[in-house]
Amino acid sequence: MPSVYIKTYGCQMNERDSEAVAAQFVAKGYSLAPSEAAADVVLLNTCSVRDHAEQKAIGKMREISNKAKKRRSQALLGFMGCMAQSRGQELLEEKGVHLVIGTQKFHRTADYVDDLLAGRRDSVVDIAEEAGSEGTIKEHLALSGSVAARKQVSAFVSIMQGCNQYCTFCIVPYTRGAERSRSIQEIVAECRTLVAGGVKEITLLGQIVTSYGKREIGTRDGKSAFVQLLEAVHEIDGLERIRFTSPHPKGYGDDLAEAYGRLPKLCESAHIPVQSGSDRVLKLMHRGYTRERFLNIIRKLRAVKPQIGLTTDVIVGFPGETNADFEETLSLAREVQFDNAFIFKYSQRRDTPAASMPDQVPQEVREERHARLLALINELAENRYNNFLHQCVQVLVEGPSRRNAARLEGRTRCNKIVVFEGSDRHIGALMDLKIERVGSFTLYGDPAIVNL
Ligand code: SF4
Repeated sequence: MPSVYIKTYGCQMNERDSEAVAAQFVAKGYSLAPSEAAADVVLLNTCSVRDHAEQKAIGKMREISNKAKKRRSQALLGFMGCMAQSRGQELLEEKGVHLVIGTQKFHRTADYVDDLLAGRRDSVVDIAEEAGSEGTIKEHLALSGSVAARKQVSAFVSIMQGCNQYCTFCIVPYTRGAERSRSIQEIVAECRTLVAGGVKEITLLGQIVTSYGKREIGTRDGKSAFVQLLEAVHEIDGLERIRFTSPHPKGYGDDLAEAYGRLPKLCESAHIPVQSGSDRVLKLMHRGYTRERFLNIIRKLRAVKPQIGLTTDVIVGFPGETNADFEETLSLAREVQFDNAFIFKYSQRRDTPAASMPDQVPQEVREERHARLLALINELAENRYNNFLHQCVQVLVEGPSRRNAARLEGRTRCNKIVVFEGSDRHIGALMDLKIERVGSFTLYGDPAIVNL
């Protein structure tokens, strides 16, 4: 049987989609190639959130195609995912590309490849909507180099697809479609199977997880569908930890804040994208909350879990963002004291409302704001991480450290990586470690006090 190589760009949702597609191929008898050069089928699972991500994937495909031509090899090439969805047919113009699969059609990929290899079709472009597609990302198979492969004890479970928020900068509602959620029963069944196979930590995934089941399940006894799902997953024996990504600040009601205090498996860590500290910019972005509402969420969470780890996403240089607006973002970051933040320079995405807004911010201003915010975030993170020095923390041991394979790495409940010395038998265990050294976004545990 032919071999397949899948390269993934973008977010954890994309990684999860790629794994489910890889599992389909393996179920059909295909093998997974160790590199694109060795593969009969090369698929790029793409991201559209920033222009840079699209250009990278197109550049990579051209490189693969040129190298294949030099080798006189006949690899079948295809694009999947968000860029495939937004560009569709035009991607067939790329040399050697015969397959374009949209975000609701991942589960058809292996069948289409079969058809193409057998000569039953010359090319396939399928970017149509498909009812029930949110329930098709359920097979698991850790692709080499993926997060799941590194963390053999941790798994990602897709709970919903799509987004209805239509933030003015974001292409996701156009590439991923409207919100659609799987049922609680289906998700719990998938989690149970993973736990039976040795998984200790599950991260629930979706474009906007806090909107989970709004339409399909609704609120019951004052609890959102998402909190109901957390409760149901929490019941699974053998599961130690639950995380989720990405939520929306609008979804942090009292029920969710309170769940952190009530559900011991729910890790005290939250990645809550704020995007800006200025009410004026938040409104232009169509985010649906104010600075004060965001700060209230942080206060509520810290009241329930004072040690909660808090990270965020910020866009700098959104159209119309003034110096005063940007100062508001800096002051919000200082007020919250984030543990880390992913800072993005605004990237114009075609067909989004923000792309045609007046007062686009010059690139050099975006760069300068990015550098200033990054310096502040690094300073705040250093203080937050230094607080762990000489503290005892519990980690779930995930496997060899990415920086030094001779050591192990685990993650605290508040989502900090701790590197320490141990052996393979510790992988998958919950261990208490004492922090002896603090590095850049990494903690180091003292092997002498490991509770073996
Ligand atoms: S909430 Fe906004 S930023 Fe997040 S996926 Fe939806 S539209 Fe995009």
